[in-house]
Amino acid sequence: MTKSSPSSRVFAIITAAGSGQRCPGNRRKQLMPLQDKPLFLWCLEAFSQVERLAGMVLVGPADDHRALEEMKTTAATFANVIAVVPGGDSRQASIFKGLAALKTAAEADDLILIHDGVRPLITPKLINRIIDSHQPGIVIVPVTRAAETVKFLADDHTVSHTIPRQQIGLAQTPQGIPFSLLWDIYQANNKEIWSRATDDAGLVEVVRPDTAIRWIEGDRDNIKITFPTDLALAEALLAAEKPGDEMIQTIITTGFGYDVHRLVPERKLVLGGVDIPFSRGLAGHSDADVAIHALVDAILGAVAAGDIGQHFPDSDPRWHNVSSLEFLAYADKLAADRLFQLLAIDLTIVAQEPKLAPFLPRMRQAINNTLITPCQLNIKATTTEGLGFTGTGEGIAAYAVVTARQRPQR
Ligand code: MG
Repeated sequence: MTKSSPSSRVFAIITAAGSGQRCPGNRRKQLMPLQDKPLFLWCLEAFSQVERLAGMVLVGPADDHRALEEMKTTAATFANVIAVVPGGDSRQASIFKGLAALKTAAEADDLILIHDGVRPLITPKLINRIIDSHQPGIVIVPVTRAAETVKFLADDHTVSHTIPRQQIGLAQTPQGIPFSLLWDIYQANNKEIWSRATDDAGLVEVVRPDTAIRWIEGDRDNIKITFPTDLALAEALLAAEKPGDEMIQTIITTGFGYDVHRLVPERKLVLGGVDIPFSRGLAGHSDADVAIHALVDAILGAVAAGDIGQHFPDSDPRWHNVSSLEFLAYADKLAADRLFQLLAIDLTIVAQEPKLAPFLPRMRQAINNTLITPCQLNIKATTTEGLGFTGTGEGIAAYAVVTARQRPQR
């Protein structure tokens, strides 16, 4: 078998001209939204992702000028849409209009993919498999297998016999047919012949019975939207894909921070971004806000970005006496830049004196005002019953734990 000649190109005709009589309501089904997008747009998006596609023609309704204009506006955003044309009064008449629009662009050997615009879940993967299977002069039909036992029904309401289901293929679209073959079939414009088949491979069987028609495995999700329940099924199929993606791509992380500063005379005491009246203050290069330093380290820990000393070295004069809330704003922005969202902060300040409880609401306000997005924030103050360096008042310590979520990267 010879592969298609390198010069043969691939075009698509997407039919979205049907009246949708089996779906209730006044919307045509090809314009009905699936997750806020009309069905035909899903098809345009899938086909436009196929690199080997030279161009596509969209066939819209002939008797609904507004719908056709809506399609033209949407299709104009796709570089490889050659034309949007009004269809005819039958599926075949619509495909004939689409072929006529391709007549100047396509040549005899080119492969034409004909797709029902009401199969929105078509994937570039299946389209590419059809193109890969293309050989000169043959027709490619994607099929799914019958899951149920198949009965041949006789006219008198009896079952004639059971058809072996391994020999049953349920035809899908797109079907791949050489342009010359399609044009020969359709240009005769013979409605009697058109009425003898419900798909394009079927027409080839009728008109050119000696043509090889090959089947390939279709895609079970590539369903045809015929009834309202089909739309609900398509929504469910799309929803079923999403949680899996989220599970794989969402990462929850935790960061821990710890800091200690010495209490010295003639320094202002700043804790949690709030000035606190006290006889002494914390020694340090910046304002020495030990609580914010612990929190910054916890944020940097949650996003795996080192520690506060790496980002704000003591040796840098820029940070002399600066408010530590600037460090917090920096760490929060760094987390956001790395697509992290802070979910919860738990901060504990350990000090024998002064009594911090009255200042906790203002600390919470100062921190949440600094963060890009406020998150769950808990601040606790405790003593150590006079034990250790915090108990004797030599210094103040702080512990912080931060939980963060890395948003999915698409
Ligand atoms: Mg520090």
